[in-house]
Amino acid sequence: MDILQDHSKVSLRASLIQQLNAYSQNEDEFLRHVDDLAGTQGEKIYPVLLNIFTQLDFKDNEARSIWQGLVQHRQQMMDCMVRPVNLTTAICDYMLTVRRELIHPKVVELNLFEETSHYCKCDRLTGLYNRSYFEEALKSEASRCKRYQTEFSLVFFDLDHFKRINDTLGHQAGDMVLKSVAKLIQSEKRTEDIAFRFGGEEMILILPGTPKYNALILAERIRHKIERMNLSFEGKQIEVTVAGGVATFPLDTDIETEMVECADRALYRAKDQGRNQIVLFSEDKRHNYRMGLIGPIKVQELGMKTSQSPSLGRIKDLSLSGMLFELQKPLDMGSRIQVEVPLSSRDTPLVMVGRVTRLQPSGSSYDVGVTFLHFGEQDRVDISKHFTSLLQAFSSAY
Ligand code: GH3
Ligand code: MG
Ligand code: MG
Repeated sequence: MDILQDHSKVSLRASLIQQLNAYSQNEDEFLRHVDDLAGTQGEKIYPVLLNIFTQLDFKDNEARSIWQGLVQHRQQMMDCMVRPVNLTTAICDYMLTVRRELIHPKVVELNLFEETSHYCKCDRLTGLYNRSYFEEALKSEASRCKRYQTEFSLVFFDLDHFKRINDTLGHQAGDMVLKSVAKLIQSEKRTEDIAFRFGGEEMILILPGTPKYNALILAERIRHKIERMNLSFEGKQIEVTVAGGVATFPLDTDIETEMVECADRALYRAKDQGRNQIVLFSEDKRHNYRMGLIGPIKVQELGMKTSQSPSLGRIKDLSLSGMLFELQKPLDMGSRIQVEVPLSSRDTPLVMVGRVTRLQPSGSSYDVGVTFLHFGEQDRVDISKHFTSLLQAFSSAY
């Protein structure tokens, strides 16, 4: 059912049911509340309302006219019978006799129904959405992106060496860790993001409208907080870390079923490179080489109130999507920076603007990861050329 797949509609649904319960003794008040809500949220509320009462799906504008029709129908029933008619009765009558959309309506207590259908979509241990709902949500998010030409990112988390926790402290300790990680993910994500338990110790976040670098910032924050969680079981301290892979739709693939595979490939690399880290999916990512540099790079923070002189850094890796460098001072996660990279093949340095997506102390300095937002067309061509020649030279190694 498309209506249940859309996450914003799921929260709208929850809020409408809450209001319905709150106004159960005064349905006229509920109808006024619906009018107010339509004023602020628009006609998208009508299909949600109708689905709550009938489990049928309608398009927004069709749903609005049905809702208006049935509110009038309720009034006519009350005028005829000269007694109050509750909303459910009026809706049943309207759908059975006027619209004829219902054939054999079944009387079900709404709250009980909602609770049962919630558990169909949720994993009982962690409270996150389950895998089967993930498949639906993924499809729905991808079609929304295609329709509105937006993007979304997917983060695939997998706990590191989770089996060891089960093996050394038992299954109960493992379950407690899963619940704690899920709770942390829930509290760190934005309301519109959707968290799933994909498998045993694998959790996925779908981040609507989120470009790759923002997804990386969020995933890094979660990774960092998980590393710092203070967990113990029966007096024994438990160290927990996660690895994560990030893929973005439609940048990495415009086939939604390939999104998990892309994120999983990045995750695999994160595991391979030592765990407790987030890796972006990117075809060129495995071709990161130190380039022919002639000097240290210059790093300038952008958008600062007072202009600061550039800091000198040392490059570690450079790809078409970002770079890793060493710097003496920390930078703020998410801040915009400009990096000048001298290349032996050019007189002028490459100039890239990017966002800080990783910060890790390394001895007395810091490893800073930056995801590029922009660089000049000629710079892109030159980097590509550089990669091509390096790739040719190293191709035998791959
Ligand atoms: P890696 O760092 O490579 O991901 O290693 P790992 O040990 O985390 O990975 P592996 O896939 O070998 O182990 C996952 C373990 O998760 C095995 C399985 O018994 C355990 N597991 C799966 N579901 C549950 C659950 O609901 N509760 C508990 N306690 N353990 C679970
Ligand atoms: Mg796993
Ligand atoms: Mg694991």
